[in-house]
Amino acid sequence: MSTAFLSQYGPWALVTGASSGIGEEFARQLAAKGLNLVLVARRADRMQALAEQLSQQYPIETRVISLDLTDPNFLSTLTPQVEDIEIGLLVNNAGMMLNGPIHKVDLRRHQQLLALNCEAPLMLAHYYGKAMRARKQGGIIFTSSVSAFMSVPYMSHYAASKAYVLSLAESMSYEMRDANVAVQALCPGYTETEMTAGIKGNIKMMTPTEVVKESLDNLGSKFTVINGANNRRQVWMMRKLFSRKRALEMVGKMMKKN
Ligand code: NAP
Repeated sequence: MSTAFLSQYGPWALVTGASSGIGEEFARQLAAKGLNLVLVARRADRMQALAEQLSQQYPIETRVISLDLTDPNFLSTLTPQVEDIEIGLLVNNAGMMLNGPIHKVDLRRHQQLLALNCEAPLMLAHYYGKAMRARKQGGIIFTSSVSAFMSVPYMSHYAASKAYVLSLAESMSYEMRDANVAVQALCPGYTETEMTAGIKGNIKMMTPTEVVKESLDNLGSKFTVINGANNRRQVWMMRKLFSRKRALEMVGKMMKKN
């Protein structure tokens, strides 16, 4: 258990998308650091099982809140259930991906993506960021993606939503640092989770354990964390070696082939 981490980011962490993948792993690693957990996603059974396991393994308390973050009123369902506790760390992690040419995906699915990937993290960061500023303590992690650094045809809206999250997190980190609130944009590349389960081909993926460890090890020191040397190299090449036009052509060709 890390006392310094616990006193800066405890006593409670709220993790969205905690029912699987990277969010579940955030819950596991934060529990190991001694933080109490509020787990948020739709699948209550998965979160309940995780909460029971973690509270047996570590001396922590847990709360499970099952809700749909695309519901425009989700904040008024969530906040009364946690108003008696202090959220020291917000992990804005829940997200969804859409594949295919933008016009072939139903507009309602695009609107859901916008609500889940952009609007919900904004609403939560606005709400808890205010409280953290007042306390002069806390942290907010936004799960963005390496796709935030480039335009990605056939995954256009997902990449655009992650660019929004990256920009929001980076500028918030500047605004919040005088209040001792650490804000981080976490940018994983391909990671083994339910989201990537259907992806075929010879893609080397990172594990959620590696991704989350890198995030938590760098919270408070780096405002943008790109996971893994391969992903950092890829982002560096896209930003420094190629023009946006060239990068678009290269990524577009690759995505079209896949
Ligand atoms: P995942 O296993 O599919 O997890 C997604 C999480 O979001 C689940 O817990 C899911 O829970 C929750 N969620 C989805 N729709 C929701 C809704 N309407 N309301 C509330 N919760 C909802 O995928 P993951 O890879 O761990 O994704 C976590 C984050 O990492 C996402 O923001 C994703 O964009 C980002 N990311 C992933 C990769 C990758 O390669 N896997 C790469 C870069 C970035 P329920 O279904 O129970 O609601």
